[in-house]
Amino acid sequence: MEGLQNFKNRTLDTFPEVQSCWHHIENFIVGSEAKKIEIGNIKVGIAVSLYSGVIFTERVFKQPLSNFLFTVFHEFTHQYQFKKYGIEKMLELYSDKMSSEDGAILMKQIELVADEMATRKLRELQKKGFFLGLNIPTGIYKSMPLTSFAATIKNLKSQVKDLGLKSSYEINDIFYSWLKS
Ligand SMILES: [Zn+2]
Repeated sequence: MEGLQNFKNRTLDTFPEVQSCWHHIENFIVGSEAKKIEIGNIKVGIAVSLYSGVIFTERVFKQPLSNFLFTVFHEFTHQYQFKKYGIEKMLELYSDKMSSEDGAILMKQIELVADEMATRKLRELQKKGFFLGLNIPTGIYKSMPLTSFAATIKNLKSQVKDLGLKSSYEINDIFYSWLKS
């Protein structure tokens, strides 16, 4: 997987205490079949999952360990979702096929699953005896109203429309360029 070695090095340099359980984390990452792991700047957030891979910003490595691990499991859960549902299904909410309201429900569901999985993976690590002192985050999306998701989707949909994008691959590429610009 492109970028995995670099990501591992950065993680273990920043959080040496992760070394003893790294193989558990790596198993999860590899199982997701992510195409690429990048470390670089993006316009919003500290990390993002696209069809083309995961981008972690430098800010991820400045997080407390609990947030860092939560973010890693959250983002790679999205890669499992891309693997399971495919790019068409995952990006359908930005197309004309779906209303912003239905898209919001789908997007919240996608995010909730990633938050729940991240919490579960951290609990599993604690059951194995790692990071016993850490408070496990439960994520931010549960309390986020559907109207926030709908607003984000509406905004992105209008850009997709303005640019005349048709395929999910084009949409993915535009997100990527916009985030990186
Ligand atoms: Zn997410």
